[in-house]
Amino acid sequence: MTNQPISGNDLARFSGPNTFMRLPQATSLEGLDVALLGIPMDIGTSWRSGTRFGPKQIRAESAMIRPYNLQTGAAPFDSLNVADVGDLAINTFSLSDSLRIIQESYDDILTSAAVPVALGGDHSITLPILRAMAKRHGPVALIHIDAHADVNDEMFGERETHGTVFRRAYEEELIVPDHVYQVGLRGTGYSATDFTEAQGWGFQMWLAPDLWHKSLANLGAEIRRDIGDRPTYITYDIDSLDPAYAPGTGTPEIGGLTTAQAMELIRGFRGLNIVGCDLVEVSPPYDPSGNTALTAANLVFELLCVLPGTTYR
Ligand code: MN
Ligand code: MN
Repeated sequence: MTNQPISGNDLARFSGPNTFMRLPQATSLEGLDVALLGIPMDIGTSWRSGTRFGPKQIRAESAMIRPYNLQTGAAPFDSLNVADVGDLAINTFSLSDSLRIIQESYDDILTSAAVPVALGGDHSITLPILRAMAKRHGPVALIHIDAHADVNDEMFGERETHGTVFRRAYEEELIVPDHVYQVGLRGTGYSATDFTEAQGWGFQMWLAPDLWHKSLANLGAEIRRDIGDRPTYITYDIDSLDPAYAPGTGTPEIGGLTTAQAMELIRGFRGLNIVGCDLVEVSPPYDPSGNTALTAANLVFELLCVLPGTTYR
């Protein structure tokens, strides 16, 4: 019998443990297919802070999610043993030490069979995660959904920030450059060549204006065919969504994806060899309605629904 979320018919949704979907909290990775974890950190951000409260708020809003995906038929908890393993003990006074802690934690997690699904935290968490992923799997295919390409060289002279992650990942050969898929990019640039340089490395980009008013139902399948069975990491920055849907984030950009497009896109990833994923940049202090964290929780559920081994009914 796999772990099950506590049902809203057994215990009122506003009570119980603050784990993702009120799943059991685990202290060991043994027997787990999926390990949900929080990385409560915002010291890699450049504008608004607050993502240190992301994991807690995403878990709180996740209490409303029911275990069956009635649109796709996915029943992740029928076949996958999923638990919430709690938060990483990052060092809130040191970004570099926090990144070291994240990488060492992932080195440990990746000795088990569990696929890690991280609740951020700002986007700087993804660099140490990719370092651990590449050590375990070799360079991975990367699906990166974001308003921003996060390929700056330095910010204030710092090379490890939430805006430099994928340049470092490229330089360190953590990712396969021509199997990097960036979706939702938009906004203003530091220079006119912000996006084109990374395209020269092989990164494939889908700018948000080119996706406006369109269904993304086929884009996921298109990316899936291009990736084949390569180990794939998915990183979902909530600011890929329009601020109308996800205002609670550090660096909002107008003209973004809709929640329906995000769901269509993720649903197209079914069948990929996903070795890990994260959802980052939810900032509860800028999210008074809770809608951003609610959306994030549901997108994490959609990601669970396409992980390898999920049953469909
Ligand atoms: Mn980002
Ligand atoms: Mn972003």
